[in-house]
Amino acid sequence: MATWTRTLTRPDGQSFRFDPGSFAMELLVSGGPGELGVFEQLHAPHDLAAWLADSRLAATAPFTAADVRVTEAELDAVKRLRDAFWRVARAMARGADLPAADLDVLNAATAETPRPVVDPRTRTLTWAKPITGGQVLGAAARDAVELVAGGGVRECSGSNCQLLFVDASRSGNRRWCSMERCGNRHKVRAHRARHETRTGEAQ
Ligand SMILES: [Zn+2]
Repeated sequence: MATWTRTLTRPDGQSFRFDPGSFAMELLVSGGPGELGVFEQLHAPHDLAAWLADSRLAATAPFTAADVRVTEAELDAVKRLRDAFWRVARAMARGADLPAADLDVLNAATAETPRPVVDPRTRTLTWAKPITGGQVLGAAARDAVELVAGGGVRECSGSNCQLLFVDASRSGNRRWCSMERCGNRHKVRAHRARHETRTGEAQ
C-alpha cells in the first residue's frame, strides 16, 4: 500500500507526522491497553468510521465516514484486537515471548476484509459499500498476523516514546517514529552533549 502518514498530537502539544508502516500498526495509534488509554480515540462507532476514512485504506480507494457501518459490538471487537496486537507487537519489538492468548485473538479475527471492486466506467478501484466494522477487524487482523510471521516491528528509540512501526526503509535501520519529533530531539541532545564535552575540555 502507499505511504500514509497520520498527524499525531502528543500530550505536550507537539504535532508531527508519523508513518506506522502498515494498517494494523496504524490502528495502534488510535489508543491501547493500560496506560495507553490516555490516547484513546475510538469512543463510539462513528469515531472508528472517521478514523478509517483517514487511514491508509483510503489511500487505495477514497471513501468517507458515511460509507462505513460500525456497530457497538464491532467497535468493541476492533479495540480488543488492537489491544491484543499492542501487546504482541511490543513483545516482538523487544524480542520477548509473544503472549499466546493475544495471538489467539488475532488468529480468530481474520475472516472478513473490505471488498475491492473496480468501477466499470472509470476502471478505478473502490471498496464495496458499506465497509463494515467486521471488515475493518478482519483487515487489521490479517495485516497483524502477516507482521507476526514476517517481523520488522520496531519500537521508537526516543526516550519516553512507545510508538511502534514497521521498518520499511531500504537500509532497514529506521530508529525513530518521526524525524520531526524523536529524531530531532536526539540530534539536539547529541549536539548539546558534544558541545558540553568540548567546553569541558577547554577549561
Ligand atoms: Zn518516537
